[in-house]
Amino acid sequence: MKTIQDTVSLIGNTPLVRLKGPSEAAGCDIFGKCEFTNPGASVKDRAAMGIIRDAEERGELKPGGTVVEGTAGNTGIGIALVANARGYNTIIVMPDNQSQEKMATLRALGAELLLVPPTKFANPGHFVHTSRRLAEETPGAIWANQFDNIANRRAHIETTAPEIWDQMDGRIDGFTCAVGTGGTLAGVGMGLKAFDENVAIALSDPYGAALYEYYAHGELKAEGNSVAEGIGQGRITANLEDAPIDTQYRISDEEGLEWVSRLLAEEGLALGLSSGINVAGAVRLGQELTEKLGRPARVATILCDTGFRYLSTLYNPEWLREKGLPVFPWLDR
Ligand code: PMP
Repeated sequence: MKTIQDTVSLIGNTPLVRLKGPSEAAGCDIFGKCEFTNPGASVKDRAAMGIIRDAEERGELKPGGTVVEGTAGNTGIGIALVANARGYNTIIVMPDNQSQEKMATLRALGAELLLVPPTKFANPGHFVHTSRRLAEETPGAIWANQFDNIANRRAHIETTAPEIWDQMDGRIDGFTCAVGTGGTLAGVGMGLKAFDENVAIALSDPYGAALYEYYAHGELKAEGNSVAEGIGQGRITANLEDAPIDTQYRISDEEGLEWVSRLLAEEGLALGLSSGINVAGAVRLGQELTEKLGRPARVATILCDTGFRYLSTLYNPEWLREKGLPVFPWLDR
């Protein structure tokens, strides 16, 4: 392998691994894109890179400038890494119910961190609106605006989708993932459909999000709730507009956690809950496509971030019990 000249170039080109347990469960081939191998250990490094590059190209972000963003954490980590590498400052606004690990990581990276109470999007104190106001008030700052800035999904159209297509030698029947901003689902969906419009694109939605009802019945409606961080959307963001979604699943935290547990115990993969929800969706899509095609389908999904970001939550028996969730048996040993 040749040397790499720039740390930002470490983003992307992540491996695609065949997942044994999910493939057996679905009776086909399920592959996971290992986004935890990005330098910021999540899929959001791609959006951070895409948004910052776009702002540079449009002349909005100048040397010594500042990037401000409202984020559940992973986008902030990606932004802080790329901003450090390119000579910008980072200000992150985050709801205070996200994992301690994400907050500690952001502080360690040198980002200025503002924690706000979690509220509904309509509330002016919501982390997204707070970050927009901060950007307006800060000289030389841009607002990354990951939800409605389509440089986010463009990064997936231009990098994630062609990587998956090449890694699967163009033999792919379906793709699914959950939605935070929608950048990954819409971008990978659009990118894969440009190669082959027959690739089925599915939304895997957690409880507490409104998109399952929207794509199934045309109405934004949420039901129940989820402890998954980084996913669960209540509106059609600009990144989701015209997303080519063929089918949708609603996935419970229990179902997602079952895959987080199995992938760790049986395949040595430490993942977060959004990855477990994605894998659960991929198993359903794989089963449906296998039946429809009359041969084992080939389905890809996203392994969004590392489980080490959730040691105080998903891998903590007290936290799991407090939330009424099943505890992985080895945690009680
Ligand atoms: N999983 C995790 C852990 C995330 O942080 C995010 C981003 N918020 C997602 C999934 C969803 O990605 P996207 O924003 O591209 O929809």
